[in-house]
Amino acid sequence: MSGLPYSDEYEVHRTMPEEGTDKQRILAMMSDLSSRENHVWESGQCSGTMYCGDHDHYDFLNEAFAHFSYVNTLQRDMCPSATKFEAEIIAMTLDMLGANSLTGTNPGGLVTSGGSGSIAHAVLAYRESAAPSTSRPNMIKPETAHPAFAKAGHLFGVDMKIAPVDPVTTQVDLDWVRANIDSNTVALIGSATNYGYGTIDPIGELGAIALEHEVGLHVDGCLGGFILPFGRELGYPIAPFDFSVPGVTTISADTHKYGYALKGTSVLAFADQSLRNAQYFYLTDWSGGKYCSPGIDGSRSGGLLAATWAAMVHLGRSGYRRYAEAIFATSAQMQTAVRSHPSLRMMGQPSFLFSFTSDEFDVYLVNDFLRTRGWRLNGQQYPNAIHMAVTRPQTQPGVVERWTTDLAEAVAFALAHRDEAPKSGAIYGGVAGGMTAEADEFIKAVMADMMDQQAAIPAP
Ligand SMILES: *Cc1c(COP(=O)(O)O)cnc(C)c1O
Repeated sequence: MSGLPYSDEYEVHRTMPEEGTDKQRILAMMSDLSSRENHVWESGQCSGTMYCGDHDHYDFLNEAFAHFSYVNTLQRDMCPSATKFEAEIIAMTLDMLGANSLTGTNPGGLVTSGGSGSIAHAVLAYRESAAPSTSRPNMIKPETAHPAFAKAGHLFGVDMKIAPVDPVTTQVDLDWVRANIDSNTVALIGSATNYGYGTIDPIGELGAIALEHEVGLHVDGCLGGFILPFGRELGYPIAPFDFSVPGVTTISADTHKYGYALKGTSVLAFADQSLRNAQYFYLTDWSGGKYCSPGIDGSRSGGLLAATWAAMVHLGRSGYRRYAEAIFATSAQMQTAVRSHPSLRMMGQPSFLFSFTSDEFDVYLVNDFLRTRGWRLNGQQYPNAIHMAVTRPQTQPGVVERWTTDLAEAVAFALAHRDEAPKSGAIYGGVAGGMTAEADEFIKAVMADMMDQQAAIPAP
């Protein structure tokens, strides 16, 4: 039990307590744990994950959430407000993503539980709308596109053909895509931006290929969907990636990332509702009654819709633009620090998220040093690289300066220790020769440990 977090400070519950615990005691514990955990990222030294970082904003969202937290959005006769919130979230997102430039289609959307949820619903929709002659559908996934596509393909029986990317630009190899479309291909995939490098696939070219071959094109804007439109308005060199690009049929955009809403929401936007309507689920002859749900989830909390709506309407376009301005400017300054070191190499043309490697040493040596200074970056492999997704916490005064100083010392450390194996490389870096049976067992053990092993009931 010793490994269970906080077991040395707070009582461990392996059975439900017979008598209930006082509310104040529970809330005092929650407050203690959350404020200690908040300290980890409030410094602005953690990549991604905390997109807004503003406690006043979180308090406001929590209040909006509280009004509907217990409401089940499946029972719309009892909560027509859920339809107002959901419809308007979808409409505002479609508008932001250029749906007004579509002609002859009827755009629509779904609010899902997150990026993986939006991607899963898109994969399902493409499968369900495949031509009857399709034996086993496939999609073409740039290697850099998110694992959620592979997960959805695994769940729904859609093969992912993995397209290589250019090692310098990190963008998908268009010739490969063109050459590998077959009669079972239902859709192509492009990212704006991808998670690893913060780079954007050539969506215009992918759209042209999709139109030529009469297949769909999903743009994964889970990360970029709510910030790139404002980056473009601010004049950053971002090629069109939304519904203004002919051929784009679906876009995922996460409200729970740069949409600054609570965790547990994302929007899947469709150029035409017919594709969305293809993936509804209903069982009309069930003895329990007629059942229908718009997506994979059954009951959903009305609170998440209310809080997401509240975030969008409260911030407004000017709020999102102001936040984007600070994030892009901070990212550019942090990138300048990286580029000032000849031993570091930026991966492709980054945006608000940047990733770098080194041709002179294992870049995880840089990560090892940065960790000692409280930085938490995300690790990549093939090649080993580390990334920083710039969010609002990094835009606080002093963070860029700390980054510049600490990075310089980290590079000096890496150059001095270039013959040594980095400590953090074992966790994040590439396994030489790819996955092994031992690595497979190790990963399973780590996941079990994360969820319940630490509190497992001892054998009687
Ligand atoms: C985060 C992310 C996803 C997956 O989203 P979840 O919300 O973690 O399920 C998919 N694509 C990209 C580019 C992402 O950044």
